[in-house]
Amino acid sequence: MTVMPRPVPPDALAAIRAIVGPKGWIDDPGDMAPFLRDERGLFVGKAPAVVRPAATAEVAEIVRICAANGIAIVPQGGNTGLCGGSVPFATGEAIVLALGRMNRVRAVDPINYTITVEAGVILAAVQAEADRHDRLFPLSLGAEGSCQIGGNLSTNAGGIQVLRYGNARDLVLGLEVVLPDGQVWDGLRGLRKDNTGYDLKQLFVGGEGTLGIVTAAVLKLFPKPREIRTAFVALPGHRQALELFAMARAASGDQLTAFELIPRIGLDISMRHVPGVTDPLAAPYPHYVLLEMSSSVPDGDIAATMDKLLDAAMAQGLVLDGTIAASAQQAAQLWRIREGIVEAQKHEGGSIKHDIAVPVSRVADFLDEATRRVEERLPGIRVVAFGHIGDGNIHFNLSQPPGADTKAYLARWEEFNEIVHRVVQGMNGSISAEHGVGRLKRDLLPQFKSAVEIELMRKVKRALDPLGIMNPGKVL
Ligand code: FAD
Ligand code: ZN
Repeated sequence: MTVMPRPVPPDALAAIRAIVGPKGWIDDPGDMAPFLRDERGLFVGKAPAVVRPAATAEVAEIVRICAANGIAIVPQGGNTGLCGGSVPFATGEAIVLALGRMNRVRAVDPINYTITVEAGVILAAVQAEADRHDRLFPLSLGAEGSCQIGGNLSTNAGGIQVLRYGNARDLVLGLEVVLPDGQVWDGLRGLRKDNTGYDLKQLFVGGEGTLGIVTAAVLKLFPKPREIRTAFVALPGHRQALELFAMARAASGDQLTAFELIPRIGLDISMRHVPGVTDPLAAPYPHYVLLEMSSSVPDGDIAATMDKLLDAAMAQGLVLDGTIAASAQQAAQLWRIREGIVEAQKHEGGSIKHDIAVPVSRVADFLDEATRRVEERLPGIRVVAFGHIGDGNIHFNLSQPPGADTKAYLARWEEFNEIVHRVVQGMNGSISAEHGVGRLKRDLLPQFKSAVEIELMRKVKRALDPLGIMNPGKVL
Protein backbone atom coordinates (compact mmCIF):
# COMPACT_ATOMS: atom_id res chain seq x y z
CA MET A 1 0.00 0.00 0.00
CA THR A 2 1.63 3.25 -1.05
CA VAL A 3 -0.88 5.78 0.34
CA MET A 4 1.23 7.82 2.75
CA PRO A 5 -0.55 9.50 5.61
CA ARG A 6 -0.12 13.25 5.80
CA PRO A 7 1.36 14.93 8.89
CA VAL A 8 -1.32 15.00 11.54
CA PRO A 9 -3.46 18.20 11.39
CA PRO A 10 -3.70 19.89 14.83
CA ASP A 11 -7.45 20.52 14.57
CA ALA A 12 -8.09 16.83 13.96
CA LEU A 13 -6.01 16.02 17.03
CA ALA A 14 -8.05 18.50 19.06
CA ALA A 15 -11.27 16.85 17.88
CA ILE A 16 -9.95 13.42 18.93
CA ARG A 17 -8.91 14.80 22.28
CA ALA A 18 -12.43 16.13 22.80
CA ILE A 19 -13.84 12.64 22.19
CA VAL A 20 -11.68 10.78 24.72
CA GLY A 21 -11.31 13.55 27.30
CA PRO A 22 -8.24 14.04 29.51
CA LYS A 23 -8.37 10.46 30.88
CA GLY A 24 -7.96 9.06 27.41
CA TRP A 25 -5.30 11.42 26.11
CA ILE A 26 -1.52 11.21 26.48
CA ASP A 27 0.86 13.55 24.69
CA ASP A 28 3.56 14.06 27.27
CA PRO A 29 6.73 12.46 25.80
CA GLY A 30 7.64 10.72 29.06
CA ASP A 31 4.15 9.29 29.52
CA MET A 32 3.95 8.21 25.89
CA ALA A 33 7.33 6.42 25.94
CA PRO A 34 6.11 2.96 27.06
CA PHE A 35 3.54 2.97 24.23
CA LEU A 36 6.13 3.85 21.59
CA ARG A 37 8.63 1.10 22.31
CA ASP A 38 8.09 -2.61 21.69
CA GLU A 39 8.60 -5.43 24.19
CA ARG A 40 12.12 -6.32 23.04
CA GLY A 41 13.25 -2.75 22.43
CA LEU A 42 13.87 -3.52 18.74
CA PHE A 43 11.54 -0.76 17.57
CA VAL A 44 11.08 2.72 19.00
CA GLY A 45 8.64 5.07 17.29
CA LYS A 46 7.05 8.50 17.54
CA ALA A 47 3.45 9.70 17.70
CA PRO A 48 1.68 13.02 18.22
CA ALA A 49 -0.52 11.33 20.84
CA VAL A 50 -1.61 8.10 22.44
CA VAL A 51 -5.39 7.92 22.68
CA ARG A 52 -7.19 5.61 25.06
CA PRO A 53 -10.91 5.43 24.25
CA ALA A 54 -13.29 3.94 26.81
CA ALA A 55 -16.07 2.68 24.52
CA THR A 56 -16.71 1.35 21.02
CA ALA A 57 -18.59 4.55 20.07
CA GLU A 58 -15.50 6.60 20.95
CA VAL A 59 -13.28 4.32 18.83
CA ALA A 60 -15.69 4.73 15.90
CA GLU A 61 -15.70 8.53 16.21
CA ILE A 62 -11.91 8.66 16.35
CA VAL A 63 -11.58 6.43 13.29
CA ARG A 64 -14.03 8.62 11.36
CA ILE A 65 -11.90 11.67 12.10
CA CYS A 66 -8.76 9.80 11.10
CA ALA A 67 -10.35 8.60 7.86
CA ALA A 68 -11.45 12.14 6.99
CA ASN A 69 -7.95 13.48 7.62
CA GLY A 70 -5.80 10.60 6.38
CA ILE A 71 -4.37 9.97 9.84
CA ALA A 72 -2.81 6.56 10.34
CA ILE A 73 -3.78 4.50 13.40
CA VAL A 74 -1.70 1.95 15.25
CA PRO A 75 -3.97 -0.19 17.45
CA GLN A 76 -2.29 -1.37 20.63
CA GLY A 77 -3.23 -3.92 23.26
CA GLY A 78 -0.79 -4.95 25.96
CA ASN A 79 2.18 -4.13 23.72
CA THR A 80 3.75 -7.54 24.35
CA GLY A 81 3.87 -8.47 20.66
CA LEU A 82 7.20 -9.73 19.38
CA CYS A 83 7.13 -8.41 15.80
CA GLY A 84 6.89 -4.64 16.24
CA GLY A 85 3.28 -4.48 15.02
CA SER A 86 1.99 -2.48 17.96
CA VAL A 87 4.33 0.52 17.80
CA PRO A 88 4.35 3.40 15.31
CA PHE A 89 7.17 4.21 12.90
CA ALA A 90 9.67 6.95 13.78
CA THR A 91 8.10 9.29 11.21
CA GLY A 92 5.46 10.26 13.78
CA GLU A 93 2.50 10.33 11.39
CA ALA A 94 0.32 7.83 13.22
CA ILE A 95 -1.58 8.00 16.46
CA VAL A 96 -1.48 5.06 18.84
CA LEU A 97 -4.94 3.86 19.81
CA ALA A 98 -4.56 1.82 22.99
CA LEU A 99 -7.49 -0.32 24.10
CA GLY A 100 -6.60 -0.83 27.77
CA ARG A 101 -9.52 1.23 29.10
CA MET A 102 -12.01 -0.94 27.24
CA ASN A 103 -11.74 -3.66 29.84
CA ARG A 104 -15.27 -4.71 30.71
CA VAL A 105 -16.57 -8.24 30.72
CA ARG A 106 -19.89 -7.74 28.95
CA ALA A 107 -21.46 -11.14 29.55
CA VAL A 108 -20.83 -14.72 30.63
CA ASP A 109 -23.16 -17.46 29.42
CA PRO A 110 -22.22 -20.68 31.23
CA ILE A 111 -24.75 -22.81 29.36
CA ASN A 112 -23.61 -21.56 25.97
CA TYR A 113 -20.04 -21.85 27.24
CA THR A 114 -19.19 -18.32 26.11
CA ILE A 115 -17.80 -15.10 27.52
CA THR A 116 -18.16 -11.70 25.85
CA VAL A 117 -15.35 -9.28 26.61
CA GLU A 118 -14.05 -5.96 25.41
CA ALA A 119 -10.75 -5.92 23.56
CA GLY A 120 -8.76 -4.40 26.42
CA VAL A 121 -9.44 -7.14 28.96
CA ILE A 122 -6.14 -8.70 30.03
CA LEU A 123 -5.88 -12.39 29.12
CA ALA A 124 -5.36 -13.47 32.74
CA ALA A 125 -8.54 -11.58 33.68
CA VAL A 126 -10.53 -13.51 31.03
CA GLN A 127 -9.17 -16.76 32.48
CA ALA A 128 -10.08 -15.64 36.01
CA GLU A 129 -13.61 -14.59 35.04
CA ALA A 130 -14.19 -17.94 33.31
CA ASP A 131 -12.90 -19.68 36.43
CA ARG A 132 -15.37 -17.78 38.61
CA HIS A 133 -18.12 -19.34 36.51
CA ASP A 134 -16.57 -22.80 36.82
CA ARG A 135 -15.40 -22.72 33.22
CA LEU A 136 -12.04 -22.72 31.46
CA PHE A 137 -10.73 -20.20 28.96
CA PRO A 138 -7.74 -22.17 27.68
CA LEU A 139 -5.58 -19.60 25.88
CA SER A 140 -2.39 -19.41 27.94
CA LEU A 141 0.99 -17.79 27.25
CA GLY A 142 3.95 -16.27 29.05
CA ALA A 143 2.65 -12.72 28.62
CA GLU A 144 -0.87 -13.50 29.93
CA GLY A 145 -0.56 -11.04 32.83
CA SER A 146 -0.25 -8.09 30.44
CA CYS A 147 -1.39 -9.01 26.91
CA GLN A 148 -5.00 -8.19 26.02
CA ILE A 149 -7.62 -10.28 24.30
CA GLY A 150 -7.81 -7.83 21.38
CA GLY A 151 -4.07 -8.28 20.85
CA ASN A 152 -4.33 -12.06 21.25
CA LEU A 153 -6.97 -12.23 18.54
CA SER A 154 -5.18 -9.77 16.27
CA THR A 155 -2.00 -11.88 16.42
CA ASN A 156 -3.86 -15.21 16.52
CA ALA A 157 -1.82 -16.07 19.61
CA GLY A 158 -0.85 -19.66 20.33
CA GLY A 159 0.84 -20.62 23.58
CA ILE A 160 0.98 -23.83 25.56
CA GLN A 161 -2.46 -25.41 25.18
CA VAL A 162 -2.96 -25.16 21.41
CA LEU A 163 -2.54 -28.90 21.16
CA ARG A 164 -5.90 -29.51 22.76
CA TYR A 165 -7.87 -26.27 22.40
CA GLY A 166 -6.45 -24.63 19.28
CA ASN A 167 -5.02 -21.12 18.92
CA ALA A 168 -6.88 -17.82 19.35
CA ARG A 169 -8.54 -18.33 15.96
CA ASP A 170 -10.23 -21.49 17.22
CA LEU A 171 -11.49 -19.82 20.38
CA VAL A 172 -13.56 -17.00 18.92
CA LEU A 173 -17.22 -17.16 17.94
CA GLY A 174 -17.96 -13.52 17.28
CA LEU A 175 -16.33 -10.10 17.00
CA GLU A 176 -17.21 -6.44 17.18
CA VAL A 177 -14.94 -4.42 14.91
CA VAL A 178 -14.58 -0.74 14.09
CA LEU A 179 -13.86 -0.71 10.38
CA PRO A 180 -11.36 1.67 8.74
CA ASP A 181 -14.18 4.03 7.69
CA GLY A 182 -15.52 4.26 11.24
CA GLN A 183 -18.51 1.94 10.81
CA VAL A 184 -19.09 -0.54 13.60
CA TRP A 185 -19.57 -4.18 12.58
CA ASP A 186 -21.49 -5.95 15.33
CA GLY A 187 -20.67 -9.59 14.72
CA LEU A 188 -20.97 -10.57 18.39
CA ARG A 189 -22.75 -13.84 17.74
CA GLY A 190 -22.24 -16.73 20.13
CA LEU A 191 -23.12 -19.45 17.66
CA ARG A 192 -21.42 -22.82 17.24
CA LYS A 193 -23.00 -23.21 13.84
CA ASP A 194 -23.50 -20.38 11.38
CA ASN A 195 -22.95 -21.02 7.69
CA THR A 196 -24.36 -17.79 6.37
CA GLY A 197 -21.61 -16.74 4.01
CA TYR A 198 -17.97 -15.76 4.41
CA ASP A 199 -16.44 -16.10 7.86
CA LEU A 200 -15.56 -12.42 8.14
CA LYS A 201 -14.35 -12.50 11.73
CA GLN A 202 -11.42 -14.67 10.70
CA LEU A 203 -10.08 -11.83 8.53
CA PHE A 204 -9.52 -9.76 11.64
CA VAL A 205 -8.05 -12.65 13.63
CA GLY A 206 -4.36 -12.49 12.81
CA GLY A 207 -4.97 -9.19 11.00
CA GLU A 208 -2.50 -7.38 13.30
CA GLY A 209 -4.62 -4.25 13.25
CA THR A 210 -4.30 -3.73 9.49
CA LEU A 211 -7.98 -4.25 8.63
CA GLY A 212 -9.83 -2.71 11.55
CA ILE A 213 -9.95 -2.35 15.32
CA VAL A 214 -11.31 -5.26 17.31
CA THR A 215 -13.37 -3.77 20.15
CA ALA A 216 -15.07 -6.86 21.62
CA ALA A 217 -15.28 -10.62 21.19
CA VAL A 218 -17.39 -13.64 22.06
CA LEU A 219 -15.01 -16.37 23.20
CA LYS A 220 -15.47 -20.10 23.69
CA LEU A 221 -15.29 -21.60 27.16
CA PHE A 222 -14.66 -25.22 28.13
CA PRO A 223 -15.34 -27.51 31.07
CA LYS A 224 -12.82 -26.89 33.83
CA PRO A 225 -10.16 -29.57 34.27
CA ARG A 226 -10.55 -31.34 37.63
CA GLU A 227 -7.53 -33.56 37.30
CA ILE A 228 -4.20 -32.50 35.81
CA ARG A 229 -1.08 -34.62 35.48
CA THR A 230 2.21 -32.93 34.64
CA ALA A 231 5.38 -34.88 33.85
CA PHE A 232 8.95 -33.92 33.03
CA VAL A 233 10.77 -36.68 31.19
CA ALA A 234 14.29 -37.12 29.83
CA LEU A 235 14.93 -38.44 26.31
CA PRO A 236 18.00 -39.44 24.34
CA GLY A 237 17.09 -37.14 21.40
CA HIS A 238 14.38 -35.09 19.75
CA ARG A 239 13.36 -37.94 17.45
CA GLN A 240 12.24 -39.87 20.52
CA ALA A 241 10.18 -36.83 21.49
CA LEU A 242 8.12 -37.28 18.33
CA GLU A 243 7.68 -40.98 19.00
CA LEU A 244 6.61 -40.24 22.55
CA PHE A 245 4.20 -37.63 21.24
CA ALA A 246 2.52 -40.11 18.93
CA MET A 247 2.28 -42.63 21.77
CA ALA A 248 0.90 -40.04 24.18
CA ARG A 249 -1.84 -38.99 21.78
CA ALA A 250 -2.84 -42.55 21.07
CA ALA A 251 -2.87 -43.37 24.78
CA SER A 252 -4.79 -40.32 25.98
CA GLY A 253 -7.06 -39.23 23.16
CA ASP A 254 -7.72 -35.52 23.47
CA GLN A 255 -6.59 -35.40 27.10
CA LEU A 256 -3.07 -34.38 26.13
CA THR A 257 -3.03 -30.61 26.67
CA ALA A 258 0.66 -29.69 26.42
CA PHE A 259 3.79 -31.25 24.97
CA GLU A 260 6.82 -28.97 25.14
CA LEU A 261 10.39 -29.69 24.10
CA ILE A 262 13.20 -28.50 26.36
CA PRO A 263 16.83 -29.06 25.37
CA ARG A 264 19.52 -29.52 28.04
CA ILE A 265 20.92 -26.06 27.31
CA GLY A 266 17.45 -24.64 28.02
CA LEU A 267 17.41 -26.24 31.47
CA ASP A 268 21.02 -25.14 32.07
CA ILE A 269 20.41 -21.47 31.32
CA SER A 270 17.08 -21.53 33.15
CA MET A 271 18.87 -22.84 36.26
CA ARG A 272 21.66 -20.30 35.82
CA HIS A 273 19.45 -17.21 35.58
CA VAL A 274 15.99 -17.90 36.97
CA PRO A 275 15.77 -18.04 40.76
CA GLY A 276 14.28 -21.27 42.10
CA VAL A 277 14.76 -23.37 38.95
CA THR A 278 16.54 -26.66 39.67
CA ASP A 279 17.13 -29.90 37.76
CA PRO A 280 14.28 -32.22 38.77
CA LEU A 281 16.30 -35.30 37.75
CA ALA A 282 19.45 -36.79 39.28
CA ALA A 283 21.60 -36.86 36.13
CA PRO A 284 21.80 -34.65 33.01
CA TYR A 285 20.16 -35.77 29.74
CA PRO A 286 20.22 -34.34 26.20
CA HIS A 287 16.52 -33.55 25.85
CA TYR A 288 13.38 -33.23 27.91
CA VAL A 289 9.68 -33.07 27.31
CA LEU A 290 7.20 -31.38 29.60
CA LEU A 291 3.85 -32.99 29.03
CA GLU A 292 0.49 -32.45 30.59
CA MET A 293 -2.79 -34.33 30.48
CA SER A 294 -6.04 -33.13 31.95
CA SER A 295 -9.60 -34.28 32.38
CA SER A 296 -12.77 -32.67 33.63
CA VAL A 297 -13.68 -35.96 35.32
CA PRO A 298 -11.80 -36.42 38.61
CA ASP A 299 -11.73 -40.20 38.68
CA GLY A 300 -8.02 -40.93 38.68
CA ASP A 301 -7.96 -42.06 35.06
CA ILE A 302 -5.47 -39.41 34.00
CA ALA A 303 -2.93 -40.54 36.58
CA ALA A 304 -3.26 -44.13 35.42
CA THR A 305 -2.96 -43.15 31.74
CA MET A 306 0.18 -41.11 32.39
CA ASP A 307 1.80 -43.89 34.45
CA LYS A 308 1.05 -46.48 31.80
CA LEU A 309 2.35 -44.27 29.01
CA LEU A 310 5.63 -43.49 30.75
CA ASP A 311 6.18 -47.13 31.76
CA ALA A 312 5.72 -48.23 28.17
CA ALA A 313 7.96 -45.42 26.86
CA MET A 314 10.72 -46.36 29.34
CA ALA A 315 10.46 -50.03 28.38
CA GLN A 316 11.03 -48.97 24.75
CA GLY A 317 13.97 -46.73 25.61
CA LEU A 318 12.20 -43.57 24.46
CA VAL A 319 12.21 -42.15 27.95
CA LEU A 320 15.32 -42.48 30.12
CA ASP A 321 14.09 -40.94 33.35
CA GLY A 322 11.31 -38.68 34.53
CA THR A 323 9.28 -37.20 37.32
CA ILE A 324 5.56 -36.65 37.73
CA ALA A 325 4.41 -33.64 39.73
CA ALA A 326 2.71 -34.69 42.94
CA SER A 327 1.05 -31.32 43.52
CA ALA A 328 0.00 -28.18 41.69
CA GLN A 329 3.01 -26.49 43.25
CA GLN A 330 5.39 -29.09 41.82
CA ALA A 331 3.72 -28.77 38.43
CA ALA A 332 4.25 -25.00 38.54
CA GLN A 333 7.89 -25.67 39.40
CA LEU A 334 8.26 -27.80 36.25
CA TRP A 335 6.58 -25.14 34.14
CA ARG A 336 9.04 -22.58 35.53
CA ILE A 337 11.83 -24.42 33.74
CA ARG A 338 10.01 -24.02 30.44
CA GLU A 339 8.90 -20.41 30.98
CA GLY A 340 12.35 -19.56 32.39
CA ILE A 341 14.11 -20.26 29.08
CA VAL A 342 12.61 -17.11 27.56
CA GLU A 343 13.88 -14.92 30.40
CA ALA A 344 17.22 -16.74 30.76
CA GLN A 345 18.21 -16.17 27.14
CA LYS A 346 18.33 -12.44 27.76
CA HIS A 347 21.27 -13.05 30.11
CA GLU A 348 23.24 -15.17 27.64
CA GLY A 349 24.19 -12.35 25.28
CA GLY A 350 22.67 -11.87 21.84
CA SER A 351 19.89 -14.20 20.73
CA ILE A 352 18.76 -14.48 17.11
CA LYS A 353 15.19 -15.72 17.17
CA HIS A 354 12.99 -17.81 14.91
CA ASP A 355 9.38 -18.81 15.50
CA ILE A 356 8.92 -21.55 12.95
CA ALA A 357 6.47 -24.33 12.22
CA VAL A 358 6.83 -27.49 10.17
CA PRO A 359 4.55 -30.52 10.03
CA VAL A 360 4.92 -32.30 13.37
CA SER A 361 6.35 -35.33 11.61
CA ARG A 362 9.22 -33.19 10.25
CA VAL A 363 10.33 -31.45 13.46
CA ALA A 364 13.28 -33.77 14.10
CA ASP A 365 14.46 -33.41 10.48
CA PHE A 366 14.15 -29.65 10.81
CA LEU A 367 16.13 -29.57 14.06
CA ASP A 368 18.91 -31.75 12.65
CA GLU A 369 19.23 -29.82 9.41
CA ALA A 370 18.91 -26.29 10.77
CA THR A 371 21.30 -27.03 13.65
CA ARG A 372 23.88 -28.47 11.29
CA ARG A 373 23.71 -25.47 8.99
CA VAL A 374 23.98 -22.75 11.66
CA GLU A 375 26.78 -24.57 13.49
CA GLU A 376 28.64 -24.87 10.21
CA ARG A 377 28.28 -21.14 9.61
CA LEU A 378 29.38 -20.14 13.11
CA PRO A 379 31.17 -22.69 15.28
CA GLY A 380 30.32 -22.12 18.95
CA ILE A 381 26.83 -20.77 18.24
CA ARG A 382 24.40 -22.19 20.80
CA VAL A 383 21.14 -23.58 19.49
CA VAL A 384 18.38 -23.13 22.08
CA ALA A 385 15.50 -24.84 20.30
CA PHE A 386 12.47 -25.30 22.50
CA GLY A 387 8.73 -25.05 22.62
CA HIS A 388 5.53 -26.40 21.24
CA ILE A 389 6.81 -29.53 19.51
CA GLY A 390 3.33 -31.04 19.72
CA ASP A 391 2.16 -28.27 17.36
CA GLY A 392 5.22 -28.52 15.12
CA ASN A 393 6.18 -25.05 16.43
CA ILE A 394 9.75 -24.56 17.61
CA HIS A 395 11.32 -21.40 18.98
CA PHE A 396 14.62 -21.95 17.21
CA ASN A 397 16.68 -19.37 19.04
CA LEU A 398 20.41 -18.96 18.58
CA SER A 399 22.46 -17.66 21.46
CA GLN A 400 25.81 -16.13 20.62
CA PRO A 401 29.02 -18.08 21.22
CA PRO A 402 30.17 -17.37 24.80
CA GLY A 403 32.36 -14.30 24.93
CA ALA A 404 31.55 -13.18 21.37
CA ASP A 405 30.84 -9.52 20.62
CA THR A 406 27.07 -9.14 21.02
CA LYS A 407 26.66 -6.28 18.57
CA ALA A 408 28.63 -7.97 15.84
CA TYR A 409 26.70 -11.18 16.46
CA LEU A 410 23.28 -9.50 16.27
CA ALA A 411 24.32 -7.78 13.05
CA ARG A 412 24.15 -11.25 11.49
CA TRP A 413 20.42 -11.61 12.34
CA GLU A 414 19.27 -11.68 8.71
CA GLU A 415 22.05 -14.00 7.64
CA PHE A 416 20.91 -16.63 10.16
CA ASN A 417 17.23 -15.99 9.40
CA GLU A 418 18.01 -16.80 5.80
CA ILE A 419 19.70 -20.10 6.68
CA VAL A 420 16.93 -21.24 9.01
CA HIS A 421 14.04 -20.05 6.87
CA ARG A 422 15.37 -21.92 3.84
CA VAL A 423 15.20 -25.16 5.81
CA VAL A 424 11.66 -24.26 6.87
CA GLN A 425 10.69 -23.52 3.30
CA GLY A 426 12.07 -26.85 2.12
CA MET A 427 9.64 -28.52 4.51
CA ASN A 428 6.62 -26.44 3.53
CA GLY A 429 6.68 -24.77 6.93
CA SER A 430 5.95 -21.28 8.28
CA ILE A 431 8.43 -18.56 9.21
CA SER A 432 6.01 -17.19 11.78
CA ALA A 433 4.10 -19.86 13.62
CA GLU A 434 2.51 -17.81 16.38
CA HIS A 435 4.06 -14.36 16.79
CA GLY A 436 2.83 -12.72 13.59
CA VAL A 437 4.51 -10.58 10.95
CA GLY A 438 4.34 -6.95 12.08
CA ARG A 439 7.41 -5.06 10.91
CA LEU A 440 9.95 -7.72 11.78
CA LYS A 441 8.97 -10.20 9.08
CA ARG A 442 7.08 -8.00 6.63
CA ASP A 443 9.74 -7.94 3.96
CA LEU A 444 10.27 -11.68 4.21
CA LEU A 445 6.70 -12.59 3.29
CA PRO A 446 7.03 -12.22 -0.50
CA GLN A 447 9.87 -14.74 -0.42
CA PHE A 448 7.77 -17.34 1.33
CA LYS A 449 4.32 -16.84 -0.14
CA SER A 450 3.37 -17.04 -3.78
CA ALA A 451 2.64 -13.88 -5.76
CA VAL A 452 -0.96 -15.06 -5.97
CA GLU A 453 -1.25 -15.27 -2.19
CA ILE A 454 0.39 -11.89 -1.56
CA GLU A 455 -1.89 -10.24 -4.13
CA LEU A 456 -4.95 -11.82 -2.51
CA MET A 457 -3.85 -10.33 0.82
CA ARG A 458 -3.37 -6.92 -0.81
CA LYS A 459 -6.82 -7.11 -2.38
CA VAL A 460 -8.39 -7.77 1.00
CA LYS A 461 -6.43 -4.87 2.47
CA ARG A 462 -7.48 -2.51 -0.33
CA ALA A 463 -11.12 -3.57 -0.08
CA LEU A 464 -11.37 -2.96 3.65
CA ASP A 465 -8.92 -0.10 4.05
CA PRO A 466 -8.73 1.79 0.74
CA LEU A 467 -7.13 4.82 2.42
CA GLY A 468 -4.43 2.69 3.99
CA ILE A 469 -4.82 4.21 7.47
CA MET A 470 -4.96 1.01 9.53
CA ASN A 471 -1.51 0.16 10.84
CA PRO A 472 0.19 0.97 7.52
CA GLY A 473 3.53 -0.66 6.82
CA LYS A 474 2.76 -3.69 8.97
CA VAL A 475 2.30 -7.20 7.55
CA LEU A 476 2.19 -5.96 3.93
P1 FAD B 1 0.05 -5.93 21.09
O1 FAD B 1 1.48 -6.27 21.21
O2 FAD B 1 -0.37 -4.65 21.71
O3 FAD B 1 -0.36 -5.89 19.54
C1 FAD B 1 -0.04 -6.94 18.67
C2 FAD B 1 -0.61 -6.64 17.27
O4 FAD B 1 -2.03 -6.64 17.31
C3 FAD B 1 -0.23 -5.28 16.72
O5 FAD B 1 -0.10 -5.36 15.33
C4 FAD B 1 -1.40 -4.39 17.08
O6 FAD B 1 -1.54 -3.32 16.19
C5 FAD B 1 -2.55 -5.36 16.97
N1 FAD B 1 -3.65 -5.10 17.91
C6 FAD B 1 -3.62 -5.10 19.26
N2 FAD B 1 -4.86 -4.91 19.77
C7 FAD B 1 -5.70 -4.77 18.70
C8 FAD B 1 -7.10 -4.57 18.56
N3 FAD B 1 -7.90 -4.46 19.62
N4 FAD B 1 -7.61 -4.47 17.31
C9 FAD B 1 -6.82 -4.59 16.22
N5 FAD B 1 -5.49 -4.79 16.29
C10 FAD B 1 -4.93 -4.89 17.52
N6 FAD B 1 2.71 -15.24 21.65
C11 FAD B 1 2.21 -16.45 21.35
O7 FAD B 1 1.47 -16.58 20.37
N7 FAD B 1 2.50 -17.55 22.12
C12 FAD B 1 3.30 -17.47 23.20
O8 FAD B 1 3.55 -18.48 23.84
C13 FAD B 1 3.82 -16.20 23.55
N8 FAD B 1 4.59 -16.06 24.65
C14 FAD B 1 5.06 -14.82 24.96
C15 FAD B 1 5.84 -14.69 26.12
C16 FAD B 1 6.34 -13.45 26.48
C17 FAD B 1 7.15 -13.34 27.74
C18 FAD B 1 6.08 -12.31 25.66
C19 FAD B 1 6.59 -10.96 26.03
C20 FAD B 1 5.31 -12.45 24.53
C21 FAD B 1 4.81 -13.69 24.15
N9 FAD B 1 4.01 -13.85 23.02
C22 FAD B 1 3.51 -15.08 22.72
C23 FAD B 1 3.74 -12.71 22.12
C24 FAD B 1 2.56 -11.81 22.56
O9 FAD B 1 2.31 -11.92 23.91
C25 FAD B 1 1.31 -12.16 21.79
O10 FAD B 1 1.52 -11.86 20.43
C26 FAD B 1 0.04 -11.43 22.25
O11 FAD B 1 -1.07 -12.02 21.62
C27 FAD B 1 0.03 -9.95 21.95
O12 FAD B 1 -1.04 -9.33 22.66
P2 FAD B 1 -0.97 -7.77 23.05
O13 FAD B 1 -2.25 -7.38 23.68
O14 FAD B 1 0.24 -7.47 23.81
O15 FAD B 1 -0.89 -7.11 21.60
ZN1 ZN C 1 5.59 -19.92 22.03
